[in-house]
Amino acid sequence: MNIMKFGGTSVGSPERIKKVAELICRENRPFVVLSAMSGTTNTLLEVAGYLLNRNQEGAIDTLTSLEAKYEGVVSRLYGTDAAREKAGQYVKDVLDYLKTFTKKLFTSTQEKILVAQGELLSTHLMYFYLEEKGVKVVLLPALDFMKLNQQGEPDSDFISSSLAPLVAGHPEAEVFLTQGFICKNAQDEIDNLQRGGSDYTASLVGAALNAEEIQIWTDIDGMHNVDPRVVRDSRPVRHLQFEEAAELAYFGAKILHPTCIQPAKFANIPVRLLNTMNPDAEGTLIDNNPDHGVIKAVAAKDNIVAIKIKSSRMLLAHGFLRRVFEIFESYRTPIDMICTSEVGVSMTIDDTTHLSSIIHDLKRYGTVSVDLDMCIVCVVGDMEWENVGFESRVLDAMKDIPVRMISYGGSNYNISFLLKEEDKKRAMEALRRNLFEKC
Ligand code: ASP
Ligand code: MG
Repeated sequence: MNIMKFGGTSVGSPERIKKVAELICRENRPFVVLSAMSGTTNTLLEVAGYLLNRNQEGAIDTLTSLEAKYEGVVSRLYGTDAAREKAGQYVKDVLDYLKTFTKKLFTSTQEKILVAQGELLSTHLMYFYLEEKGVKVVLLPALDFMKLNQQGEPDSDFISSSLAPLVAGHPEAEVFLTQGFICKNAQDEIDNLQRGGSDYTASLVGAALNAEEIQIWTDIDGMHNVDPRVVRDSRPVRHLQFEEAAELAYFGAKILHPTCIQPAKFANIPVRLLNTMNPDAEGTLIDNNPDHGVIKAVAAKDNIVAIKIKSSRMLLAHGFLRRVFEIFESYRTPIDMICTSEVGVSMTIDDTTHLSSIIHDLKRYGTVSVDLDMCIVCVVGDMEWENVGFESRVLDAMKDIPVRMISYGGSNYNISFLLKEEDKKRAMEALRRNLFEKC
């Protein structure tokens, strides 16, 4: 069985939904995971924002335009009155329900319920469409099997033990369909896997069902060797090892959510990135097989802050780094990159929620300086230290660019640079030329 996950833009209009339905029908008994139609999750969060601020009117206005949008989709998607009526009724019920939130106490629990409606809407619209086409489709509610444990992590035992019988119970099904992103938490309340979490659903479902392949369908021909939004002449990368994909996903390649890698890697299930607009293109295959000595791609992550702490107390001392790290830990702020010297240490973070408190606390241990508006540019590939030559090619590309930090050796898969955001495009262009054009 293959898992097919379609993102928000892939189901973003009636035309796209029809196209996705065609792709679904080409496959033998796929298990389909859908995101909300593009824009919907943001709109629902906007509604939640209004309600948290007790602005009922803003919430109602936003819901009214959301309703109009979905009515438009329903009127253009279906060919028969029966399907149009069923889908229309569903949309109306969901929106009526959402409007009741404007009259109740609104907390973060309600926010989760509200934001879950996006995936419920898209999957029901697809369900009615496939049903109208005569496809034997079974809609399995994600809230029946996607569950978080006490730590807020997906409970894979629960997921596999509840999903397998649900699938086995429908031998007649030609297509299984479910919602990405949404789940129940350990308290059995509606929750979600965080923004972009539908990829994670696909990967967890793939592992639970021991799928042959997890297909992530977007609107680009797989992962590119440089970010096509920043640099021209990028090319799709045909093959990545899971670790390489994880580095790229984490360091800015928007095409795949980083959390999606782990379950697929552990279950040894290949992930394939495919393009709904060009379904026969090869895309990118991600699995556990290495390509020796090949540099695959460059990615970049913006909005990075660098923090340096300089102290003569660090000289020959032990325990200094632990004390520094404990400060970040106490504010639950992850560190991305780190470089040390005998008299100082530089770190980067992208979550700046507690920046001023962190700086305040760090001043106990040394002189602190901060650089804002930085970015991490990350080169990914097989960079085993015993391979020779790749460092000089990478560094040569940086010869005209001011580099604030360099990190290599943390894994066998990347070299990262910290630069000013304004130098990102130049750096990525130079890396593309040096790494992918010359050879
Ligand atoms: N709809 C959710 C979001 O926009 C989940 C997803 O699309 O992956 O974040
Ligand atoms: Mg996504």
